[in-house]
Amino acid sequence: MTYKKSRFNSVIEAFDDGVLIFNTMTAAILWIPNELWEYEEYSGDITEEWEQVIDSGIWVECNINEIEEMEKYLKISAKKNSGTLAITIVPTYACNMKCDYCFQHDYLEPIMSYDTADKILASLMPIILKYTCLHVTWFGGEPMLALEVMEYLSQNLIEFCTANSIKYTADLITNGTLLNNTNVDILKQCCVMSVQITLDGTNHDEVRKMKDGSSSYQIIINNIAENVKNFNIVVRSNVTESNTINIKNMIDELMIDYNLAGKVFFSFYPVSDFEGKKPKCDQYNHFCGLNVYDSELIDLCSYVTRYQSIRLVANMDLRPSTIPCEAICKDAVCLDAHGDVYKCALSMQNMECRIGNIFENSLKEILDDGDQKGWLTFKWEDECKECKFLPMCHSGCIFRKRVSGKTKICALQISTHKQLIKLLFDEIKKEETDETVD
Ligand code: SF4
Ligand code: SF4
Repeated sequence: MTYKKSRFNSVIEAFDDGVLIFNTMTAAILWIPNELWEYEEYSGDITEEWEQVIDSGIWVECNINEIEEMEKYLKISAKKNSGTLAITIVPTYACNMKCDYCFQHDYLEPIMSYDTADKILASLMPIILKYTCLHVTWFGGEPMLALEVMEYLSQNLIEFCTANSIKYTADLITNGTLLNNTNVDILKQCCVMSVQITLDGTNHDEVRKMKDGSSSYQIIINNIAENVKNFNIVVRSNVTESNTINIKNMIDELMIDYNLAGKVFFSFYPVSDFEGKKPKCDQYNHFCGLNVYDSELIDLCSYVTRYQSIRLVANMDLRPSTIPCEAICKDAVCLDAHGDVYKCALSMQNMECRIGNIFENSLKEILDDGDQKGWLTFKWEDECKECKFLPMCHSGCIFRKRVSGKTKICALQISTHKQLIKLLFDEIKKEETDETVD
């Protein structure tokens, strides 16, 4: 058998007479000595060293066309029932906060009625039966403003899943202001395991105020500290061109004052204008250019490692996927308080992206309808087929391409992945050294 180098190898760094390689198809990270790396093709004995590089996908069989293989998997995965049905429910677009950069329109938005909840349950149940696991993401506005209907839907879904031997899990995206003891008990009964909370650094209150103009920072930070025992908490910070120092101060506060080292995940994303959508505050103009975000991200990730493993930074999730996102799968749905059905949570409230309404058609009819208004048609840009990052990017976010008219939107990590992988590699080395010392 003859082997060739994978087209998805990214050379991270050369050191110690070898190279550190990251393969974007398998997510393998391996240091390879130069005497192996110099082979473009290899057909000799398969020693232990060669077995390792072949198993990790860094060399592949010569007759394999990796792009064609990926295309095959993509087509199968989009049609195949993966076993898990992942749905997003927005029980209200209303919110108790008024963040300057928010693009959600919550003026006079209702809380989901029990009629709509019943309609959702009746529509979903026949579809859930095709799966072995149901995962619900609660999203808003602020979903906890609709806690009663969240509880009602959860109880019914959990009962239905239990009766049919289907595993049920849930997570929540919240602003974190309503995580008091009573509400937390309800969330636990709703099987919510993970909670994402936004906290934008010690200057958070400048842009993320309560609707009455009061501060939210201290309420949220107390709720995070109180609830690390109850949930996996991801603290999401939105990065602007000038708030990195405040995010670092917030990390210090959480790690030192609240003793949370090793107990929370962090994630860092740029504040972007989201393809021209209007933010709540018309004058808001602190969007973060990607060149600035790249360097801020590396700075923030390195800062986290002062206290805890880089593995507890959600941006490190550099896993490949056989599909670009759930939206191209037939049964993927997002449902809101109006009964509107979308394919992607980011597209909600954009009526052009809506694929139906459960008061007009059953969910089955909506999902069985041909191409679901173009969401199931997917292809990579030709130039992306030359890109090493294709298995992680797939030509970019389908919703953003749809609204912007762009044919490709490069993944955020394309320019930062080398430094992120290096941070992770150093962490792995450090752990190995610590184990040896122990
Ligand atoms: S918490 Fe802020 S960003 Fe989130 S929905 Fe409410 S106003 Fe918008
Ligand atoms: S959109 Fe950019 S990063 Fe993504 S696959 Fe295409 S060229 Fe690569």
